[in-house]
Amino acid sequence: MKVGILCRVYDLLLDELGPQHWWPADTAFEVVVGAMLTQQTKWTNVEKAIEGLKENDLLEVDPLSRADPGLLEELVRCCGFYRQKASRLKGIAGFFAEHGMENVFSMPVDELRRTLLSLKGVGNETADSIVLYAAEKPKFVIDAYTTRMMKCIGIEGDYMQLQGMFEEQLPKDVGIYKEYHALIVEYSKAYCGRNRCNECILKDLNENGY
Ligand code: SF4
Repeated sequence: MKVGILCRVYDLLLDELGPQHWWPADTAFEVVVGAMLTQQTKWTNVEKAIEGLKENDLLEVDPLSRADPGLLEELVRCCGFYRQKASRLKGIAGFFAEHGMENVFSMPVDELRRTLLSLKGVGNETADSIVLYAAEKPKFVIDAYTTRMMKCIGIEGDYMQLQGMFEEQLPKDVGIYKEYHALIVEYSKAYCGRNRCNECILKDLNENGY
């Protein structure tokens, strides 16, 4: 793999799309809720659910931890797997209510990641999204878009291998990690998802051709 290729990709994406200023949320807890709800569904469904939670004053730790399960299920129904998601949301809200979100987010980054991974419904991508966008600590988020894009430029690996490559090559900077993941998602929606591979701005980076 060419040294610095991931910095080059970042520059190209930023030039093409401009800064994205992610994550679209008003509070750290809204990031947590969004990260839980976005699993296996579109962001537009998450926005709808978040709107409903806001209208019912449930987008805060304590109220959500005590929310009526039936109401919660109704509010997140649009995101699919609604029973599971409602119960997992209550679970993570209960965890933050018990331990204090500030206390949890003040843990060292790897301890925080391990702690989040021990909660029901929190896998690598969700944990890292919360670490990066809610706790604002440096953990690079890998998702299916990232895996596909990397494959296109000749880089393959599992979640942890790809994360390790990004974290090795990039400056350890929360702002860059946030922006980079957002750029990958937005580029993937605009190009990869619309089969615009013939216009891809990354094609010259793959030594082996597509
Ligand atoms: S546009 Fe096509 S070639 Fe470019 S990164 Fe996306 S899937 Fe790969």
